[in-house]
Amino acid sequence: MINKKDNIATDSQQVDQVISLLHQTYPEADCTLEFNSAWEILVGGILGAQCTDERVNIIAPILHERFPQLSDYDAASLTEIEQIIRSCGLYRNKAKAIKGSAAMILADFAGQVPEQEADLLRLPGVGRKIANLVRSDFFGHPAIVVDTHCGRISRLLGLTDSKDPVRIEHDLQRVLPETEWISWGHLMVAHGRSLCEARCRQCRVCPLQPVCAYGFAIDFSQQEVRGNDVRKCY
Ligand code: SF4
Repeated sequence: MINKKDNIATDSQQVDQVISLLHQTYPEADCTLEFNSAWEILVGGILGAQCTDERVNIIAPILHERFPQLSDYDAASLTEIEQIIRSCGLYRNKAKAIKGSAAMILADFAGQVPEQEADLLRLPGVGRKIANLVRSDFFGHPAIVVDTHCGRISRLLGLTDSKDPVRIEHDLQRVLPETEWISWGHLMVAHGRSLCEARCRQCRVCPLQPVCAYGFAIDFSQQEVRGNDVRKCY
């Protein structure tokens, strides 16, 4: 059941239902970035800030073809990298992060993308989201990737009340079984692009509605949401 006081779901049965319904609804949910190596998913994560995965999946292969080895990135000028990734936005910072990460991986990690969280977090431009992306989707370690879909939908479901990604991650770690940590991010992206879009939640047809804090509070007969949130798109 949803804890009415702080809106945090505390019933593990309800959480299990949420997970099960998400898997049933999105059986194919997987990482939406395309990659062939730890370096490629790391670069994908860096390019993905405020950019769609679709655009990253177009630009990243061009980048990797132009710079096939880590040493090629290290030797490249920032301008060369910037020119290729310009359409991903924030290209100056992203180029610095990519070139700087290549240099550090060569110098400090014998040319291998590190697997440990603390090592990944040392790389320029790499925060928890990217570190968790690499650790989970490439290395298979249990880690939750908290992006905007994950934060927003986890709040709607009542699994967290925070907007801080670190707190969201900790809240989710408390309520989700560790075996679901990797898939949770994939499921949140799938749901956020389908029934639970930021601008239009289709709660009326969403299979999660009976176990979702937000959906459960909707009085469909009144066509309104109880509480302060009056956005209607269901
Ligand atoms: S019931 Fe509505 S708010 Fe809840 S997960 Fe479904 S679409 Fe999103």
